[in-house]
Amino acid sequence: MYNISYVDGIYQNYENSKVNINDRGYHFGDSVYEVVLFNEGIFYDFEGHLNRLFDSLNSINIKFSFSKQSLKIIIKNLIKINRVSFGSVYIQVSRGIAERNHSYKDMNIKPLLSIIITKKQNNLSDEAIGVKAITLNDNRWARPDIKTTQLLPNVLAKTKANNKGAFEGIFIDSEGYVTEGSSSNIWIINNDNEIITRAIDGKILSGITRKSIAKFADLNDLIVKEKKFRKEELYKSKEVFLSSASSFVTPIIEIDNVKINNGEVGEISVELRKLYFKNFTK
Ligand code: PMP
Repeated sequence: MYNISYVDGIYQNYENSKVNINDRGYHFGDSVYEVVLFNEGIFYDFEGHLNRLFDSLNSINIKFSFSKQSLKIIIKNLIKINRVSFGSVYIQVSRGIAERNHSYKDMNIKPLLSIIITKKQNNLSDEAIGVKAITLNDNRWARPDIKTTQLLPNVLAKTKANNKGAFEGIFIDSEGYVTEGSSSNIWIINNDNEIITRAIDGKILSGITRKSIAKFADLNDLIVKEKKFRKEELYKSKEVFLSSASSFVTPIIEIDNVKINNGEVGEISVELRKLYFKNFTK
């Protein structure tokens, strides 16, 4: 069984886990979140995700009283109670519950923390399996660098991709450059084996997996460059892959019906996925 969640101080079954109709996350998307994967006692990039949660809270001025340490205790409790050995932890903090009003000025509200454990069905092994993607215009708000629950364009993009038999939708900005995936960062590898991803320029989320991959690649003498690249470069790249907490390093072998690397998983993507797992093994 893994159906116990934590909502506003209470551990209980999903059926009883309810959030108030006046929660600002529900009304306005006035909330932030994180996803962390775990497997057999290993948390992937736990510190990075918790740090970013606090950064997101600060960015939108939510005054949260929990410490990182207390969050860790709740998460470990939940995993134990649910008796689950692998899966993902979803952490959400909304500004709180208050009568509906756009402005939160002088509102005396307590942030609402909820944590859910789900049993991941994704590929949790170091074996890289290739996926398909489509591209679409980036029509998100101007602050995709903050990890808020305002994800409607991402939801529509992912669904469009899935409807076309693809795993991910890749956003393209108004100048024709790749920003990121609907729930991932995007990388290309060129003919000189340079591993390229867009810089943290305010137009993408600063992926925690992205940061670790760059570090592990660097430590293994692989060349990582941060720069913008165009949609056309995606199609011509030697390899393309995406990164995220739930997909780690996942090769993209076809984009908009164009095969990448003849539709085969590329060597460097395979190596990077292995490196990522290796660095989190006890
Ligand atoms: N960009 C977006 C829009 C995302 O939703 C995610 C996944 N949270 C990422 C990038 C990857 O970030 P991370 O590696 O921290 O999961």
